[in-house]
Amino acid sequence: MKVLRRFVYKGKDDVQMYECSLDRMKDKISTFSKFGDAGHGGITRYSLSPEAIMARNEFIKRMKAIGAEIEIDDVANIYATLPGTDPDAKRIVMASHCDSVKNGGNYDGILGVMSAMEVLETVHEKNIPHKHPLTAMIWTNEEGSLYPPAMMCSGIVCYDYLPEDIRCKFKYEDMMNSKSILDNTSTFGEALDKSGFKGDKKYRLSPDRYMYMFETHIEQGPILEDAGNDIGVVDCVLGMFNYRLKFYGQTTHAGTFPMPKRRDAFFAASQALCYLHEEIDKLGYSDLVYTTGEVVCHPCVHTCVPDFFDFSFDSRHEDPKVLEKVLAIVKSCEEKTWAGCTCKVEKAWNRDTVYWDKKLVSYVKTSAEECGIKHQYIHSGAGHDAQFAAYMLPTTMIFVQSKDGLSHCEPEYSSPEHCTEGATVMLNAVLKADND
Ligand SMILES: [Zn+2]
Repeated sequence: MKVLRRFVYKGKDDVQMYECSLDRMKDKISTFSKFGDAGHGGITRYSLSPEAIMARNEFIKRMKAIGAEIEIDDVANIYATLPGTDPDAKRIVMASHCDSVKNGGNYDGILGVMSAMEVLETVHEKNIPHKHPLTAMIWTNEEGSLYPPAMMCSGIVCYDYLPEDIRCKFKYEDMMNSKSILDNTSTFGEALDKSGFKGDKKYRLSPDRYMYMFETHIEQGPILEDAGNDIGVVDCVLGMFNYRLKFYGQTTHAGTFPMPKRRDAFFAASQALCYLHEEIDKLGYSDLVYTTGEVVCHPCVHTCVPDFFDFSFDSRHEDPKVLEKVLAIVKSCEEKTWAGCTCKVEKAWNRDTVYWDKKLVSYVKTSAEECGIKHQYIHSGAGHDAQFAAYMLPTTMIFVQSKDGLSHCEPEYSSPEHCTEGATVMLNAVLKADND
């Protein structure tokens, strides 16, 4: 009764597993890669843009074709649901996003959507019995690349469940007024109204109707590839902090003022940057990451000595005690002068490590084992919608190997075989969760 087609790996013939379709995954990858094709191997698909709407319509068309019921909430998140055998059972949802960064790749986000579709299509095709309704979901505006911030609509939907210092950044009215980075005038709220995808608030993801969430995503780093593993069993999203270091000097003419008397804020910042790298690397944590990726220089004119320089400092690690040690070093920059300039250290924001639900993680791990797919535990260094959902529902993630670790760029690539393996692992993990 339970199994219609047997899928047996590596002698584990007492375990019944199902396999997703490589051909169908290839077809989805090539179809969705056309929506926003920038002409050189990647896409630009801002949320609610005409390209994103094509992707949304394709999702709806394919999900309707297998008999899924479509619901759309008030911030354009789309839910496609196949009913289960128990009409009272809560839904198991698989979600990711279909928007991209500018000149992004064909896998970030959309792979999770295609994997969720693939799970539903496989369940439909093989007539796999399941008690709970199964939902494939598209989150709106995960990247925030046209209308900031990132993870906007999971922030709105999970608002009541978020820690206060995160929640305050996702007020509904503020999100609707978020301005396009292109024209600095049009708003997310206007784009939502125009999109034709503004649905009903009653369909929002909620613990009343949903039991578990899964998200499949590309790794966006080289760890799986370097280790020769295909799939990552993600156990957490790393805690992080983001600070600004500001340096104050004196501007003056670049040609007339003697060097020993200058207070060059850029030079000061460069000295502090070297100090940070030296001191933090001395801590000796090989899995600690940090960067100073965003800078502001004033007046930023080649004939002027800079009087102000500001750089971001983003650091991530699972253990808050490690982050505390890093932060102490960052803050110590305030205690000295750098090339005659003063330094101020200001907190931008931080988040604690978000651990995935242990039971769901174990379903993913067992599923990968039973499918004979090479896997390992891995942390997520990037933020994802699933981490906001995790404050609301038991949630977990599956990573698929990224070629050369590249992401948020056009060479971003995961093989169709790896993508299909990710969907297969999610399918079998969801079927384990279906027994709960
Ligand atoms: Zn993503």
